[in-house]
Amino acid sequence: MTFQQFYDNINTSFIFAVLYNLYPYLILLIMLSSKKCPECDKTVMGRSDKRFCSDSCRSSLHNRVRQDDVYAVKNVNQILIRNRRILMAALDSRRNEVSQSYLRAKGFNFNFFTHQIDQPSGRSAVFCYDIGYRREASNLLALVKDEESLVVRK
Ligand SMILES: [Zn+2]
Repeated sequence: MTFQQFYDNINTSFIFAVLYNLYPYLILLIMLSSKKCPECDKTVMGRSDKRFCSDSCRSSLHNRVRQDDVYAVKNVNQILIRNRRILMAALDSRRNEVSQSYLRAKGFNFNFFTHQIDQPSGRSAVFCYDIGYRREASNLLALVKDEESLVVRK
């Protein structure tokens, strides 16, 4: 055996021994540094920009987020639409002013409205889509229509 052969043997077995002993730690390091799938919590393997473990996890999370959006918007819209109908019905019965308790008795929810417009009088009008009310000095609510801001400008 030449010195070179002896040296090569030591080198190879040394590298082998190091790898053999560190192997579990290397796997652990890879596991720890890799990302978890935000949907199922499995380790995500593959490209570094890959977020989900599978296509089904990706679409299942996106569908759930979209469903939450639809649900929240639908609930608020139902309240706003009911508010608008109550104001419309009051206007249709030729009332120009209504009391707060009248609207509340009809089921009007004062916490929900679409927008607010400052009026020249200094009092602001609160709207549910195109119809709203302005609180008068008498504490009655004057019914008002928003014909300005809802015009679609081209
Ligand atoms: Zn997953």
